[in-house]
Amino acid sequence: MNLTDLKTPALHYFSSPAMCCANELVQAESSRYDLERLGCYRTTTIEDADVLVILGALTESIAQELVVLYHKMPKPQRVIVAGTCGCGGGLFPFLGQQTFVDPKSLFPIDLYVPGCPPRPEAMIRAFVDLKSKVSS
Ligand code: SF4
Repeated sequence: MNLTDLKTPALHYFSSPAMCCANELVQAESSRYDLERLGCYRTTTIEDADVLVILGALTESIAQELVVLYHKMPKPQRVIVAGTCGCGGGLFPFLGQQTFVDPKSLFPIDLYVPGCPPRPEAMIRAFVDLKSKVSS
């Protein structure tokens, strides 16, 4: 897949309330990595979003809000979960202060991005893989 192929289809993504993983997504958006050159654009309007990016562990209150947001997205909704905390709770289940909600119990997940934090390259790879999935 070359760079021109990667520009289509364009994907607009909305990211969940962020924890430290969000810095890596911001890095991926920076001029060094330039996620936009791959046709991936951040949106702050959930009704315009093709992709929901979940960053960090989900508490019950955040999970409820994400379900509402997910159902406001145009179909088919796509979901990327990034970071050890988002994928499996990280340390939070062991701290006992918060209840970790597994995102796959809320809606289908298209891709998991492991790492603490996942590197910007891993975030970019997730979008490239999602584009391949959407195109096929
Ligand atoms: S996976 Fe690591 S970087 Fe990401 S939210 Fe958890 S502690 Fe922070």
